[in-house]
Amino acid sequence: MRQVIGVDIGGTGIKGLGVREDGRVLAEAARATDARLGREAILAKLRELIDELMVQVPEAQAIGIASAGRVNAETGEVVYATGNLPGWQGMPLTAWAASEFGLPAAAENDANAALLGEVWLGAGRGKDDLVMLTLGTGVGGAYMTAGRLVRGARWSGGEWGHSVLVPGGRLCNCGKRGCVEQYISGTALVRLGHELTGRAYGHGRELMAEADKGEAAAVEVLERYTSAVALVADNIAVAVDPELIIIGGGVIHDQATWWPLLLNKLGAAAVVAAELGNRAGCFGVAKLVLDRLSENRIR
Ligand code: BGC
Ligand code: ZN
Repeated sequence: MRQVIGVDIGGTGIKGLGVREDGRVLAEAARATDARLGREAILAKLRELIDELMVQVPEAQAIGIASAGRVNAETGEVVYATGNLPGWQGMPLTAWAASEFGLPAAAENDANAALLGEVWLGAGRGKDDLVMLTLGTGVGGAYMTAGRLVRGARWSGGEWGHSVLVPGGRLCNCGKRGCVEQYISGTALVRLGHELTGRAYGHGRELMAEADKGEAAAVEVLERYTSAVALVADNIAVAVDPELIIIGGGVIHDQATWWPLLLNKLGAAAVVAAELGNRAGCFGVAKLVLDRLSENRIR
């Protein structure tokens, strides 16, 4: 059975899996990164992570790389990246992987990859019309209609994170104001927590713990946060009419606390939590290279 490597590059960390074509995980590794340090810093960590996986999966035949930003899935290049990944724009991901490791490679936007992963092994199994939202450092979006991922004419299909929720609102890392990402990302949740409670949170989970104890300010943060998530999900549902909207990303780990609040606020959207957690992107991009290997599109 074929074996491949799938890695996922986000704003605050890189994850990687060695995966067999039946979906079995053969190896797993992760590195914390500070993407703001720039391209060379990310590449150093990425090289280290893939080296580690290659030791455990020496038979790997290809490398899949999922990354935030607009990724040209044909050439494997990052065509646009926001301030979450400075210096990443123009990065030729697949050419880099091929020259570093001597293996064929493919690249994909991280949210697109997460959707492919959920369709393969998670909440999207057996479904053809799906939307994925990932709530983490940024907000990723992806969608599939009639079983086909919609990548768009300029590789920004499904980038709801940069549609505007609040005209004239918060300045986004993409340069616009009021983007969805500024209100429903994990980063935005922590910031709203700080604004309403005066406390500094290292992670959304601390805020959730306070809400669980019934602290009014923390509950208010989650009420506002889930109102924004529901609004975004309902708007997407109206336009795309998916069977399901799958919500993933770091914020989903503390789902027990805020999920019921979200469900109460939803209108048209049918929403489910991602099943693969933060490994969805790695699985999805592994599946992408597996498919390309079997179609002989990479070798
Ligand atoms: C980027 C997207 C990415 C998302 C999640 C956003 O800021 O623009 O391309 O999918 O973050 O990482
Ligand atoms: Zn934006």
